[in-house]
Amino acid sequence: MALNDLRDLYQTVILERYKKPRNRGTTSPVDRHQRGHNPSCGDTIELSLKLNGADGSIDDVKFEGEGCAISMASVDLMAEALRGKSCEEALEMVQTFQAMMKGDAEFPKELRKLNVMQGVAQFPVRIKCANLGWHTLKAALEQVGQAEAVEFVSNENL
Ligand code: ZN
Repeated sequence: MALNDLRDLYQTVILERYKKPRNRGTTSPVDRHQRGHNPSCGDTIELSLKLNGADGSIDDVKFEGEGCAISMASVDLMAEALRGKSCEEALEMVQTFQAMMKGDAEFPKELRKLNVMQGVAQFPVRIKCANLGWHTLKAALEQVGQAEAVEFVSNENL
């Protein structure tokens, strides 16, 4: 496939995800809840996680929020990719995603759907949009023993 076709395909995936997100809503129950905000674009999300009672792995991830196509598509793809992952694996995925936004990494075959966001690395002003879901996830996973986060996380200083 030619590079331009590939780029078009990625844009199509992002727009489709934006128009028809598959993971909007709230998990039941809500074991972790975290709000995230990207002031540079105005994107806002609320992430909820259902954790497995036995091993603490991620059973389900849902989001609510408003924002640009890139931020919404990114969090929607992220939610899907996280199901069944342990918290450690999820935190590694956060690092891989952030490295991918610098052009330094990509996801392995079983997570290759996430690589559609790779093209965003070429647009520095949009990187914060793509990172918002992952940044918020990291804050949600790092909460210790509290169901409700008190504060908004902002990626303004990233
Ligand atoms: Zn945005």
